[in-house]
Amino acid sequence: MWKPKLEKLAQGHLLRELSVVDSPCGPTISWNGQNTLLFASNDYLGLANHPNLKQAACKAIEQFGVGAGASRLISGTFPPHQDLEQNLAHFFRTEASLIMSSGYATNSGVIPSLIAHDGLILADRLCHASLIDGCRLSRATLRIFRHNDIEHLRSLLLKHARARHTLIVTEGVFSMDGDLSPLPHLVRLAEEFEALLLIDDAHGTGVMGSTGGGTIEHWGVNSANILHMGTLSKALGASGGFITGTKDFIAYLINTSRSFMYSTAPPPAMAGAAQAALHLIQQEPERRVRLWRNREHMYQGLTTMGCQLTPTKSPILPILVKDPGVALEMSQQLRANGIFIPAIRPPTVPNRTSRLRVTLTAEHSAEHINTALEAIQQVGQSLKIF
Ligand code: PMP
Repeated sequence: MWKPKLEKLAQGHLLRELSVVDSPCGPTISWNGQNTLLFASNDYLGLANHPNLKQAACKAIEQFGVGAGASRLISGTFPPHQDLEQNLAHFFRTEASLIMSSGYATNSGVIPSLIAHDGLILADRLCHASLIDGCRLSRATLRIFRHNDIEHLRSLLLKHARARHTLIVTEGVFSMDGDLSPLPHLVRLAEEFEALLLIDDAHGTGVMGSTGGGTIEHWGVNSANILHMGTLSKALGASGGFITGTKDFIAYLINTSRSFMYSTAPPPAMAGAAQAALHLIQQEPERRVRLWRNREHMYQGLTTMGCQLTPTKSPILPILVKDPGVALEMSQQLRANGIFIPAIRPPTVPNRTSRLRVTLTAEHSAEHINTALEAIQQVGQSLKIF
């Protein structure tokens, strides 16, 4: 029954398979015993294997055990959860915050709390699947605006001006394109049309802004209409999602967000590790400096060799290859050379926009980047991509 479906995926170069990494996350990993240079992780600041995070997780395990044993509202709230929520609120200068077991759970749980079936959601075309799934779960009317197209968004707001409640949904840094949402324009529109604006800053947290406060800090925007979520699983090197806001807003989510209410609490150790990461983000700004230096190095190298990149402004550097088969072939050839850069294909990205998604971290060395650049040039030329 499943075989023909799998064969169809394989014929379209869209079959995905798991491979197991047998070392910690880092700029180099061991993959089935083969040393591999990794340009695929979202561990932007190199914290996933940091001793402070490991120690904090172990300490929380010693004190509180491994599993939380229940959902947060029953008996699953432990001091590390509370400490992290207070510290996230402090870091993002909001009254309160709420953590959930993943960024996916945050988006799919929060959006239906924000807007009911009689509301209107306007989402950027390139929004992450977790945002789209949250929108669908809300059963509100969902309209998609062209990527970062403010005029299109305005025209949809005008067309649906009679909607009772409106939510605009976007990403601070777009996960598969690396470009930024023009937040000042979106904030102005949200205020003008009395809409809420949900910003998913999964890839901005810890990366963008002078103190790592994300794209809201980067753009210097501030508005009561903004709702801000992020993940603990990327620059923070741990796992989980969070949302910030006023005490009342967070209390409302605790009472209505189904992915929060009906799921076992994240392990206290995960909150402990994320708390250690939040501390490092503030204490070691040089990590961000190294990340951006590496990003510039790779960006210059790729553009000099003639790669067609998306209009990226972040450490995500997608090389547009378009054809999924070619993207896959390129990724496989690079992997045979000991370098992993994933091929991103539909349905993750729109048809005819398959790409190699290069991500940089603070832990890459100049030598790692030069090695990758040489290999990309060789493989790209052999496949006649540039
Ligand atoms: N939003 C965006 C933009 C993402 O890229 C991701 C992760 N790929 C998520 C949400 C989901 O976060 P998590 O991995 O913590 O579930």
